[in-house]
This record gives sequence, structure tokens and C-alpha cells, in this order.
Amino acid sequence: MSFRSKLLSCLSFCLAAALTQPAAATSHRGQIALTFDDLPGIMLSDNSNDIAHFNRALVNGLKRHRVPATGFIVAGKLEDLDQRRMRHALSLWVHAGFTLGNHTYSHESPSRIPVDEYNADILKGQTLLCSLTRCSPRAPLWFRHPYLETGATLADAQKVDQFLTDHRYRTAPVTLVSQDWVFSETYDDALARHDAAEASHIRQSYLTYTATMVTWYRASAQSVFGRDIPLVALLHASKLNADSIGDLLAIYRRAGLRTVPLAKAMRDPAYKTPDTYASAKGMDWIGRWSLQLGRPLAPGYVDPPEDIAATYRKIDSD
Ligand SMILES: [Zn+2]
Repeated sequence: MSFRSKLLSCLSFCLAAALTQPAAATSHRGQIALTFDDLPGIMLSDNSNDIAHFNRALVNGLKRHRVPATGFIVAGKLEDLDQRRMRHALSLWVHAGFTLGNHTYSHESPSRIPVDEYNADILKGQTLLCSLTRCSPRAPLWFRHPYLETGATLADAQKVDQFLTDHRYRTAPVTLVSQDWVFSETYDDALARHDAAEASHIRQSYLTYTATMVTWYRASAQSVFGRDIPLVALLHASKLNADSIGDLLAIYRRAGLRTVPLAKAMRDPAYKTPDTYASAKGMDWIGRWSLQLGRPLAPGYVDPPEDIAATYRKIDSD
């Protein structure tokens, strides 16, 4: 499986929507932590020049708005790109004061390869991370599971967890998914075809869908925990997010969400809820905790617009 197809198969997430039951939304003031996966970035046709460019734009946008962020590196991506330029793009995140974490070397999953191989892939990914950030022997490292897949069986999940603990990693859960990869690839496709109207339509649809998902995940947190919890948003380093960061921040602001560092969001006791979810399919943590606590998610989950999803499926199968 190629790198790109592995990255794009994120759509296989077993989104928690299937578990939905009635619940009420909230307007309380809340918090949101932004995380960006698959650094140095996802693109329909990997191009070092474009990836370097949107990294700079994204980092500058986050800096301009004084927003904390965490980026998760897939070190193996550099194999197919201009390594010097990509290292420079990643160093922009470090110099801006953002946190970087490990997203494995090969963007693999413990559901698809043996756990020992998966754990070795995590360590392989750490080399680049620590060459950029000079990892302190005492400081914890952040880890994000590709596809949010943590293990097909509880035994596998626990083995990965133990490995992460032994290597002083903290798992970064996800409690807000707006399927940005669906919009990002179709946006890249429209731009490559010089179809500015279609690109604009996709970007607007992405923003609308993000606002809908913010409401749904907050309502689900209310249903599961009886209160707002800080959200941890899963985004990707992409041209779409670089072009949209100001608009995304405006959506969060209008929802009454203040941006906070990942570590601060995770101080909320909700993030200490046990997670015994085991499946070959990934799932966000609101869905996991809903199952764990036996409490329903909110109603009203919707998928991305079908016209964009259909284009994405077509691009993905090419
Ligand atoms: Zn990923």
C-alpha cells in the first residue's frame, strides 16, 4: 500500500455516529486544543515546494492568531520528498514554539501489522522527532495513533499502551473530527484543475461542516459527561487548513471555544476516563467513552456533503 493511499484511507474511521441517541446541546464557554497530523503534510500529489509553502502559511497563521498547536510527524513521509526542505518546514513549527509529537514512521496501524512491528515503527519515527526537538530524557513525548486505530484486540491495545508508557509517551486522544482529509484532497484536486469556483465551494463546505461538527461533539460531550469538556481537534497539515486557519479560528470563537495547549485540555478529568475499546477500526475518544460509560452520543451526526465525498472516493481510488 502506498503512503498516499494509507494516508487517505483515514475515511475508514469507525465514527461514533452509529451510537447516537437524543441529547441537548450547550452554549457554555469551552476550550479547544488544535492538533495537526501527518506532518510535513498531506497533499493530493506530494510536492515538496507546495508542502513547504503551506507549512509556512499554516505556522504563520497560527502565530499571527497566537494559537497553541501540536503537530504529529510521519517521519517516513520524508523519504519521497526533498528531505532538506521538509526538515526546514518542520523546524518552522519548533521555532514558532509549537509542540511536535510522533505519528509513527510509516503511518501504520496495530490492526494491520504485528504489534511488535508497530512498536518498532514508533521508535523509528522518534529519531526524526528527537533530532528536531532535542527530546529531553525526562520530558514526556506525545503520540497520536494513525487512523485512531489503537489495536484490534484489548491485548494488542494494552501491549501498545505499555510500550508507549515504557518509552514515556502520552497518547493524544481526539474529541473533534471534521474529516478535513476529505475536503483537503478534493480542494487540492480543484486547485490542480484551476477550478477556483469549485475550490471555493469545497472550502466553504468544509467550514460549514466544521461548525456542524463542533456543535455535535460538544452536544455529545454533554450527553456522555453531563458537561462541556475541552475538545481536542484532529486536523491535518494541508493547504486547505493553511488557507482556512483564520476562518476555522473564527468558528471556534463563535462557538465560545478558547484555544488552549493540548496538555491543558487534557487536564480535564474526562481525559482520565478508561478506554477499553478494541477493534480493527479506529474511533474518536468521545465514541470510546460513550461505550465505556454506557451513555449515548448526541443525535444529529451528519457526514460530509455527498458531492464532495463522492469526488474524494473517486480521487482515492485512482
Ligand atoms: Zn495520520
